[in-house]
Amino acid sequence: MTMVRKRGSPLAEQLLETLEDRGYRDTLPRRAVVQAIAERERHFTAEELHEQLPSVGRATIFRSLKLLVESGMLCRVLLEDGNLHYQLSHRGHHHHLLCVQCGNSEDLVGCDIEDQLRQVAAARRFQVSGHWLEVYGRCQSCQALQQPA
Ligand SMILES: [Zn+2]
Ligand SMILES: [Zn+2]
Ligand SMILES: [Zn+2]
Repeated sequence: MTMVRKRGSPLAEQLLETLEDRGYRDTLPRRAVVQAIAERERHFTAEELHEQLPSVGRATIFRSLKLLVESGMLCRVLLEDGNLHYQLSHRGHHHHLLCVQCGNSEDLVGCDIEDQLRQVAAARRFQVSGHWLEVYGRCQSCQALQQPA
């Protein structure tokens, strides 16, 4: 699902408020970072943000990303090539279906992996603090493109 977001959207304000709630003051560089994030429709890397905002220090970018991930506004997406991306999120805990061809990412919620993981871990007397799962493959449109005519 793609959402269209406009410049100066309430989303940017929401992200700023989230940072402020976490004690991160609203400064010009931070404002630039959240504005750039709010305009992203796909997942992005910290490096891409830095290229877009060369005047903003890497430390500011990484700190903002970290705080937004911790507060659930962003999620981390690990691509199959090992690159870590970020993506706007409003879903709480979920996983991603990642297309290795077009890079499309679809949220996966409500699958029954959670219970199985809990059981397997419990059987090994392992105390779980979290898990991270990405699913790689090809999306429907990419499969359709490859069908012989
Ligand atoms: Zn996500
Ligand atoms: Zn695809
Ligand atoms: Zn999960």
